[in-house]
Amino acid sequence: MEICIHRGTHEIGGTCVEIAHDGFRIAVDLGLPLDAEDNLPELLPSVAGITHPADDFLGVIISHPHQDHFGLLAHVHENLPIAMGQAARRILETASRFVPGPKAHLGNLELKDRQTLTLGPFSITPFTVDHSAYDAYALLIEAGGRRVFYSGDFRAHGRKAALFERLIAAPPTPIDCLMLEGTCLARLGEDEHFITESNLEQQFVDAFKRISGLAMVFASGQNVDRLVTIYRAALKSGRYLILDLYTSEILAATENEKLPQGHWDNVRVIIPHSQSKQATATENLFENHRCINWKKLHELAPNAVMLCRATMLKQIADSGNLAGAEVIYSMWDGYLKDGKTQAQLDALNIPLTKIHTSGHADIPTLKRLVEALQPKNVTPIHSEHPELFENLFPNVVNRTDGEWWSI
Ligand SMILES: [Zn+2]
Repeated sequence: MEICIHRGTHEIGGTCVEIAHDGFRIAVDLGLPLDAEDNLPELLPSVAGITHPADDFLGVIISHPHQDHFGLLAHVHENLPIAMGQAARRILETASRFVPGPKAHLGNLELKDRQTLTLGPFSITPFTVDHSAYDAYALLIEAGGRRVFYSGDFRAHGRKAALFERLIAAPPTPIDCLMLEGTCLARLGEDEHFITESNLEQQFVDAFKRISGLAMVFASGQNVDRLVTIYRAALKSGRYLILDLYTSEILAATENEKLPQGHWDNVRVIIPHSQSKQATATENLFENHRCINWKKLHELAPNAVMLCRATMLKQIADSGNLAGAEVIYSMWDGYLKDGKTQAQLDALNIPLTKIHTSGHADIPTLKRLVEALQPKNVTPIHSEHPELFENLFPNVVNRTDGEWWSI
């Protein structure tokens, strides 16, 4: 098997790996780089067969529905086979109705937990993982008697931590090469653990009990684990959860009845200005979402948690619901560094508290995966600090973007 990481040996985001065997090739992930200002075709890695059909190129496997793993699918040719989880595909279809920019091609090949997909000489077995994206997979890729394990993005401190324990209890060994994500390296110490999603729940409960007015939570509408945490904390503190239409539609797209939904008793759905067009186009709007009117928000505000984004702040202020309101920031705080959100909050006199945990594995978790898989080689990917891997794991081989190697 020949492998090339086109992008991702020394950065987080923009991931793309090409794998070749016996005259055929596949790619794993086709992500938008995090520092890209626009989603442009010039950002595509040089993989023959993605913009024009090529007989030897069999398709792209998308590990999970995060921009930095699928974002460049907008520029592939329309007959390219693309594999991803079915829920991931529905989430991306739904999100594309709300998000401007080029529409991604989503293909129709299905990844399913532990069900092997065959593309030419390649056998691809997905393992559902615990991650901040819903329907996320690590991938075992086999061809010509060689076995690669691509960790994708994963963690073991979320609501699906049991999936990680299941994987390492019966690891798919032997592994010739482990491509291991290292997002957290240099962000926390070797023995430090990220706080668990269930511990976060208690922090939210405490905050919701303390806040006298509307509790506004900034969180990604696609971080389903976090939405569950916020929903449960709202319930425990006697508050309604108010979702924006986008988030309510994403939750519906999971088709998972165990997850909070916009038609549930203690959930309400509000339509911000920015989503009014999509609301008109939404089928069964009032059946699937318990919509509330902005004019009635004041009746719920002191007893509600509202999922919020910066674009909604003005409308919330104009609707006169800021008395005693506070913001809880539940996203990576790197997004705050440009100061824009903080400036908006300062202007409105709204205090901000951070309650967040990472979507990625801490170092003790990475070590447990390496110990379980016993790979012949560990190759860093999705990390800004590939040079730190060799202090932490045995048999590390660093690669550079665009370099081909054989196993
Ligand atoms: Zn991710």
